[in-house]
Amino acid sequence: MSSTDVSAKLFADAASVIPGGVNSPVRAFASVGGTPRFITSAQGCWLTDADGNRYADLVCSWGPMILGHAHPAVVEAVQRAAADGLSFGAPTPSESELAREIIDRVAPVERLRLVNSGTEATMSAIRLARGFTGRAKIVKFSGCYHGHSDALLADAGSGVATLGLPSSPGVTGAAAADTVVLPYNNVAAVEDVFARFGDEIACVITEASPGNMGTVPPLPGFNAALRRITSAHGALLISDEVMTGFRVSRSGWYGLDPVDADLFAFGKVMSGGLPAAAFGGSAEVMGRLAPLGPVYQAGTLSGNPVAMAAGLATLRAADDAVYATLDANADRLIGLIAGALTDAGVAHQIPRAGNMFSVFFGDAEPVTDFASAKATETWRFPAFFHALLDAGVYPPPSAYECWFVSTALDDEAFDRISTALPGAARAAAQATRP
Ligand SMILES: *Cc1c(COP(=O)(O)O)cnc(C)c1O
Repeated sequence: MSSTDVSAKLFADAASVIPGGVNSPVRAFASVGGTPRFITSAQGCWLTDADGNRYADLVCSWGPMILGHAHPAVVEAVQRAAADGLSFGAPTPSESELAREIIDRVAPVERLRLVNSGTEATMSAIRLARGFTGRAKIVKFSGCYHGHSDALLADAGSGVATLGLPSSPGVTGAAAADTVVLPYNNVAAVEDVFARFGDEIACVITEASPGNMGTVPPLPGFNAALRRITSAHGALLISDEVMTGFRVSRSGWYGLDPVDADLFAFGKVMSGGLPAAAFGGSAEVMGRLAPLGPVYQAGTLSGNPVAMAAGLATLRAADDAVYATLDANADRLIGLIAGALTDAGVAHQIPRAGNMFSVFFGDAEPVTDFASAKATETWRFPAFFHALLDAGVYPPPSAYECWFVSTALDDEAFDRISTALPGAARAAAQATRP
């Protein structure tokens, strides 16, 4: 293995000023062990760490970097915007340009409000749904992650899943009391809860295709059933496309499974690697937001011009050819992983949603919800992960996360991945249940 001494020292330094040394828990490698790599630069599909090791990147900043790192058009747009000033606290033309770009791609979205993170987008969409309907209860699904706002942290995915937390201390009973958590992909459970509390439910929020308990796509017709049930009871449907939006197609998951939600949340790809996110929907619902309506929502840095420039440059570059390349790269990568695991005799399933996928081990039932994801042999994942990392391939550091491809994956990266996989598959085969 190449040296990780510098990363280890930086991690120790970081831990003396930042809780756990990281600003988002999964980065600490808690579920896979070992030293988190401190990244100093990235170009295309290659990450370089503080020890000078290079990795083929299969995380892509958890999705945003569909074009690869430091894409020339994005960097140039950011540099030009930065030279014109970083923030004004006043409207700028680029905000409407990015809103227009998104509205043109997702038909049910007529108005869009820009915020700074996916967490803010879903939190604000929930507030708006409650304000619009005058109802308190919300329905979410176990294993779906919508950011870290209090009402949405109940039984969530992502780092909450990775760390095995049921929820989080600090979220009061009152904040979570109006959140009803149901098993994913279970229409009967949704029907049942609406039969009991239908006139108290403001909204159902769902990941358009979940990626935070691993990739667990909706069964055919599941999103359409949510639309039917919410409409029948006067509740809103919120489709969280923070991960899938503008990644799995030009129009996100909506492009693959066109269910007209009332509100959509976006983030990740739409801001090209800078902090921006958004939520949007019909002019009628969005018209309840301040300053038009009484539902308050605001942000000092919302619509930041540099973030807008990164998002616009990314979306404008993301044409049909980009999505075809992302799909082809995912096909190729899944083929290599499945081939290596089969050769090593490791039972596995690789659920897929467009160009996103996850690797679950064992011959358990097909994963359709959080319980079935947890029933897989996730204990094989750390060995698989570290064998790949040591060979210069950077997969997500948790079995409950998606793998993300970019268009920048090149032949050198695929060669490195092909070379690394047989050893990683053997490591997964030899892993022992703790
Ligand atoms: C990443 C993510 C969020 C949270 O976005 P942040 O920008 O990290 O706050 C919300 N929903 C989904 C589906 C996500 O994948």
